[in-house]
Amino acid sequence: MTTNDPKAEQSEATPKKARMKIPRQPMPEQDPRRRRTNFEEVPRGYSEATAMLEASRCIQCKKPGCVEGCPVNIQIPAFIKEIAEGRFVEALLKLKEQTALPAVCGRVCPQESQCEARCILGKKGEPVAIGRLERFAADYARKHGGVPEPIKATATGKKVAVVGAGPAGITVAGELARWGHEVVMFEALHLAGGVLMYGIPQFRLPKEIVQYEVNSLKRLGVTIHTDYVIGKSETVDQLLEEGFDAVFIATGAGLPVFLGIPNENAIGVFSANEFLTRANLMRAIDFPRFATSPIRPHRAVTVGGGNVAMDAARTALRLGAESAIVYRRSKAEMPARGEEIHHAEEEGVVFHMLTNPKRIVVDERNRVTGVECLQMELGEPDASGRRRPVTVAGSEFIVPADTVIVAIGNQPNPLVPQTAPEIETSRWGTINTDPVTMMTSKLGVFAGGDIVSGAATVISAMGQGKKAAFYMHRYLMGVDPPQ
Ligand code: FAD
Repeated sequence: MTTNDPKAEQSEATPKKARMKIPRQPMPEQDPRRRRTNFEEVPRGYSEATAMLEASRCIQCKKPGCVEGCPVNIQIPAFIKEIAEGRFVEALLKLKEQTALPAVCGRVCPQESQCEARCILGKKGEPVAIGRLERFAADYARKHGGVPEPIKATATGKKVAVVGAGPAGITVAGELARWGHEVVMFEALHLAGGVLMYGIPQFRLPKEIVQYEVNSLKRLGVTIHTDYVIGKSETVDQLLEEGFDAVFIATGAGLPVFLGIPNENAIGVFSANEFLTRANLMRAIDFPRFATSPIRPHRAVTVGGGNVAMDAARTALRLGAESAIVYRRSKAEMPARGEEIHHAEEEGVVFHMLTNPKRIVVDERNRVTGVECLQMELGEPDASGRRRPVTVAGSEFIVPADTVIVAIGNQPNPLVPQTAPEIETSRWGTINTDPVTMMTSKLGVFAGGDIVSGAATVISAMGQGKKAAFYMHRYLMGVDPPQ
């Protein structure tokens, strides 16, 4: 009998039973009334004592479902045991065996549908707070100078180009640099980090954490060229001609999808990517300290129901707007993390459910004055398994707005595939790769992250990066990488 059988667990020693009775430890958070006026991080993180108490709830299953639920198979019981016994830096080292970005993943991974969904404690009560413990270990080590510098293997003489500096590119660059390859990254924007820098706001993921990881790449010897657009500055073929032995493409899915409704080009309509990039990367939130033209919405309507929509609506709120979300299905179908929806509601974002925009309403100067919407009801399930929203005839109404943020999805960035004709793509514009090695149809060119999977998650981008790095090393050296 395995120990992830609840009955087996319950029949074991009393301390375990007693530990199982400890409630999941809440995350201290900034008060909603205060935080809606600032950009500081919302969850404050566990104290050492709370982390140890929470970690003691883990019953150390012999066949842990949580590990299977993690896309990169972090040895979760092992790192939690280190925390429970007060060895916080050792906990980080355990995490680092599988993930390059634990401080990031501990904050933004959808743990509730991955590792924590498989935690045995969740069957009868609340799962162990795995994500919060991951964040705690990473933060503790960073703050206490406990993160050891990775050991670099002897130089191999091989040179690799990494195109795009988001989580997939960062993972590959870190692994390959550790294994002794010369790594050069090319990033289109002026700062490395991908969506972690330009998309996810400061109040969810402080930017100094991302830059700390970027700096550790630099300390490993990785060269990062920013403001460098592959496909414009030079092409993938030119990189290979210049002497790169392999290339990894990790350009993400940053191409916004629009609604296709009248007046979508009016003044005051933004894609969520543009809105968030201005606010985060270009620091419009710090006006007048930064010269980026300020966005000062008074009434913002964000269209969509995912994490991107929550980020945009909560950013608009913090910029001083009355902020509303318009979503065509019901809350149960919203793809955003439950925690993000909850935080948005607590802060005062208004949710218009079962509502679909029909047209942007404008004044004589083509400035947004509102969004004409239709009421929806849910019909039969569609291909996604979710109930299809159906229009209620004659239900038009106007939500007043001076700013509309469209957050209904992103597509793969097309520039690199367009300028590298030998690289095959799917009909959705994603790059086709060998599912095992992540090599594209062009020899020596690999790809991973959202450019391969379509818009997905940080952890899935890192997982693909990890796999690609392994096979890139094999491609370059003919042997497995060092441990
Ligand atoms: P990206 O992070 O998109 O990085 C790609 C990089 O490539 C970018 O820096 C881009 O500038 C660069 N680039 C593009 N084209 C070129 C070129 N031609 N030359 C050079 N560089 C180029 N996921 C979660 O797990 N949890 C969340 O809470 C979450 N929230 C999100 C919120 C927002 C607002 C957004 C937009 C996404 C969110 N995601 C979340 C999704 C997650 O961020 C992505 O799945 C992940 O970042 C993908 O990583 P990547 O490395 O493939 O691409």
